[in-house]
Amino acid sequence: MTHKIAILPGDGIGVEIIVEARKLLDCLRDDFGFAVETEEALVGGCAYDATGTPLPEATLTLAREADSVLLGAVGGPKWESLDISVRPERGLLGLRAELELFANLRPAILYPQLADASTLRSDVVAGLDILIVRELTGGIYFGQPRGVEKLADGQRRGYNTLVYTSSEVERIGRVAFEIAQKRGGRLCSVDKANVLECTEMWREVMTEVSADYPDVELSHMYVDNAAMQLVRAPKQFDVMVTTNMFGDILSDCAAMLTGSIGMLPSASLNAQNRGMYEPIHGSAPDIAGQGVANPLATLLSVAMMLRYSLGEPALAERIDRAVSVVLDQGLRTGDIMSTGMRQVGSAEMGDAVITALRADAS
Ligand code: NAD
Repeated sequence: MTHKIAILPGDGIGVEIIVEARKLLDCLRDDFGFAVETEEALVGGCAYDATGTPLPEATLTLAREADSVLLGAVGGPKWESLDISVRPERGLLGLRAELELFANLRPAILYPQLADASTLRSDVVAGLDILIVRELTGGIYFGQPRGVEKLADGQRRGYNTLVYTSSEVERIGRVAFEIAQKRGGRLCSVDKANVLECTEMWREVMTEVSADYPDVELSHMYVDNAAMQLVRAPKQFDVMVTTNMFGDILSDCAAMLTGSIGMLPSASLNAQNRGMYEPIHGSAPDIAGQGVANPLATLLSVAMMLRYSLGEPALAERIDRAVSVVLDQGLRTGDIMSTGMRQVGSAEMGDAVITALRADAS
């Protein structure tokens, strides 16, 4: 079976890091017999420039028909003054909603070679390996009613709605329990059940679902405590599951524990495990066009795609190993550079991963 992958480079460094991912996919096809077909389309600011919308119909159709979507990044100062309905980020939100990508998986792994890159003490973070499962298509980011209205006294009143149905909580819960089963067997559900009724229900549903997963140890934590624990003793966590907004915030915090936004991949999955894969970072306008962006988060996103959507866990392992080998060799892009290492650009880093991959195979 040939896997169809829709590639959406997007804006800024998205374009540069996707070049490296393409090289990796070509290598997997030519050297490892991985049957893959790719097609590119526009999303984000470049799509707005070309078509007047950040998510053209042709892109959506391609994404719907593909087995997986690989995305670079969207956005940039050029499009910041546009109406919110056509900003590049709308393209992303639209893809997530249209493809029903309700489960966002964000690993925060600290490679031992990069222990010094974290702002926390290396004994606190060394060996860190957390997976945050964030609900992605519901909650306050999508809830209605929403808006800003003008009051009679001239003030403005802004409002958003936090809303979940029990089935939405159950489906994200099941994804998280199943992942916890394959990892360390511990799941922490994060909510604000002491203040928000909606997340009190979230807690109840998680507890009900846990009956089907007796091999997973479920715990609950309030989000404020979870934020504190993530920087106090992050290694206590294995898998965390939480709402859209709490997950947005906590996963960025967890990412920074590793000190390297350029190293972290992510997956957003639908009920059939089809998904969109992307690095967690943005389009980095400050370094775009210079060929210096770290491509490893994107290459690791390809590994996640092989593992979670395309049924190729052994190839995924190979990519993970190749990245580790390259770090052992002392190669570093600017974002993870430290004394004594050799600084390289995006292309050299991508090539080094492919060389390590081939060496592992021979
Ligand atoms: P950003 O992640 O683009 O950049 C933050 C900092 O990290 C910058 O200094 C940047 O140079 C650096 N950085 C990011 N990725 C890097 C990489 N691979 N290698 C080396 N350094 C890297 O976040 P931002 O500056 O807040 O946002 C810039 C634009 O990206 C905005 O328009 C924002 O809306 C958009 N954005 C898009 C996504 C996405 O497409 N998923 C996510 C976040 C932000």
